Amino acid sequence: MSTISKILIANRGEIALRVLRACKELGIATVAVHSTADADAMHVRLADESVCIGPPPSRDSYLNIHQIVAACEITGADAVHPGYGFLSENAKFADILEAHGITFIGPTAEHIRLMGDKITAKQTAVELGIPVVPGSDGEVTSENVLETARQIGFPVLIKATAGGGGRGMKVAKTESDLEEAFNTARTEAAAAFGNPAVYMEKYLGKPRHIEVQVVGDGAGNAIHLGERDCSLQRRHQKVWEEANSPALNVEQRMRIGQICADAMKKMKYRGAGTVEFLYENGEFYFIEMNTRLQVEHPITEAITGIDLVHEQIRVASGAGLSVTQDEITFHGHAIECRINAEDPRTFVPSPGTITHFHAPGGLGVRVDSGAYAGYKIPPYYDSLIGKLIVHGRTRVECMMRLRRVLDEFVVDGIKTTLPLFQDLVANQDIANGDYDIHWLEDYLARTSA
Ligand code: ADP
Repeated sequence: MSTISKILIANRGEIALRVLRACKELGIATVAVHSTADADAMHVRLADESVCIGPPPSRDSYLNIHQIVAACEITGADAVHPGYGFLSENAKFADILEAHGITFIGPTAEHIRLMGDKITAKQTAVELGIPVVPGSDGEVTSENVLETARQIGFPVLIKATAGGGGRGMKVAKTESDLEEAFNTARTEAAAAFGNPAVYMEKYLGKPRHIEVQVVGDGAGNAIHLGERDCSLQRRHQKVWEEANSPALNVEQRMRIGQICADAMKKMKYRGAGTVEFLYENGEFYFIEMNTRLQVEHPITEAITGIDLVHEQIRVASGAGLSVTQDEITFHGHAIECRINAEDPRTFVPSPGTITHFHAPGGLGVRVDSGAYAGYKIPPYYDSLIGKLIVHGRTRVECMMRLRRVLDEFVVDGIKTTLPLFQDLVANQDIANGDYDIHWLEDYLARTSA
């Protein structure tokens, strides 16, 4: 067992702060890294040490592996927590750290690679007994695209093998759309990922996005922590997430959770991961696995009481999981709202200085944010400035609390998505839990002036 005494946090914003808090609780020293644009960030102020790793563009700082490894060596950090995004799913980074004797707090490089390629990920899922969306056996090319689409049946979805963030994804409703969808998806995939390869899936009409949280110890023991419903999305980006899903009953939850936990045991998966599914007419269809902590992990923490970053650090140090599956129980309901520095209608980013900031409080309220009054949001990174997580004994209580909490939250000086959540919490479909992955975009189209 390798003990971890100093962790370098290779990230910024709310997730850097989130990881820092876990380290402090575990008595582990912290190193923040930051670009010149983030010198005043909260995670930099609170860390034991900090290192500037470059200019504002991510490729020169948060994605600069050499600088991050050098920062580990200068500070004597013996482990790196990558957060989400940036280098969190970069197998080369995990390899390089290992070569330097630094622990990567995440899965093995091999597992990152396996799940990073979506065709391989799907084939692996099939082998592990996870149900998948019907689709092509591997890549589709101009030679087999028509035949494959006819076999699957229209509508079909063309997806980038190297995909992420919904890019390189195109629907073909009928045969006449197919050529264009295929070509556009390939062009987009080549531009976004440097790899034009695409595959094909049955396009599901009205699914929900339901994902299962797993954690493994890397030695064949793994557990699940239930699911999250992330169906409320805009441009394939999650906006509002809840746990449990309003669409599942206890049997369905435990069945899909067990399938995922068993798969992770077979893989000997290490660390936290999320198995993502589309869910329609009572059936689950695997779409991908994320081999890292997710933005929306706090709702799972709220209903299970388990700190996922503590677990990540424990398994990375070889200490194993702190709980068994039998010890995990689900309490009440939690909802997360992603507070972005964006216009709540057009979603145009709104960087600038926060002049006034008041986070809500009270029972069942958690705000994960590095923002404060006087904080200047740099224009270089994503627009997430914080997450509001509300917990209640029931979904109804959770919604009532969310309504109260949203009225208390004050962020002045910039535009935020808070007003959107005030609309959503008052909506009847949302109150009923009656929505699918298209609901939010339809709603925005319907209600825009
Ligand atoms: P990415 O990695 O680019 O985010 P995913 O495979 O995770 O791609 O899919 C992102 C989103 O795209 C899903 O949450 C869902 O909204 C939609 N989607 C993906 N596959 C399908 C499908 N077969 N049918 C309908 N919608 C899909």
